[in-house]
Amino acid sequence: MTHRVLVVAAHPDDEVLGCGGSIARHRAAGDAVAVLIMADGVGSRSGADAPPAARQQCAQQAAKILGVQDLTLLAYPDNRMDEATLLDVVQDIEKVMARCLPDIVYTHHAGDVNIDHHIVHDAVIAACRSQPGHTVKQLLFFETPSSTEWRPPASHAVFAPNWFSDISATLELKLQALAAYAPELREFPHPRSLQAVEHLARWRGACAGLAAAEAFELGRNIV
Ligand SMILES: [Zn+2]
Repeated sequence: MTHRVLVVAAHPDDEVLGCGGSIARHRAAGDAVAVLIMADGVGSRSGADAPPAARQQCAQQAAKILGVQDLTLLAYPDNRMDEATLLDVVQDIEKVMARCLPDIVYTHHAGDVNIDHHIVHDAVIAACRSQPGHTVKQLLFFETPSSTEWRPPASHAVFAPNWFSDISATLELKLQALAAYAPELREFPHPRSLQAVEHLARWRGACAGLAAAEAFELGRNIV
């Protein structure tokens, strides 16, 4: 049985950081994968940020590398999604869900150090309410290097993964897709560096007896 997968990410690059290897794995298995990116990803990071058009090109290039068939880029302001109403965010997600009818949805963990990640998490939870006839059977929360690990344990929900996706065969594609976001990458030991992302994949793999993995918290599973 093939699946219909939707990844809802706050910023361009979060989809690769969080579940790029799993996206490639779904595609290799014949699943359909759609990616929805809510914010434009510019405006708050200082330094050599790329303009929006360049970020969109990065996202398109990364999607091509991973085999994503359906990429939607919205333009909520970066790190200011709290200026939008949650209802608007939920409805934008619902529009995409109505089109791609996913049975598996990936999104952010609730405890990240990023307001947009929180809002997208809450909006996806609302959009995935298990009403009769709803298509979503599985809801997974990913970790985002340079956000999830920066949350002190006493300040919010800790990321405690209980779901591991074997990306031994797709880690290389994940790193290639991440390299498409070159302006967002930093030098190791920054967590948003190619080496740190590979080290995390190797460690998450080691936690599960695998050569490489992406780790998730299972939000809901309906079988
Ligand atoms: Zn982000």
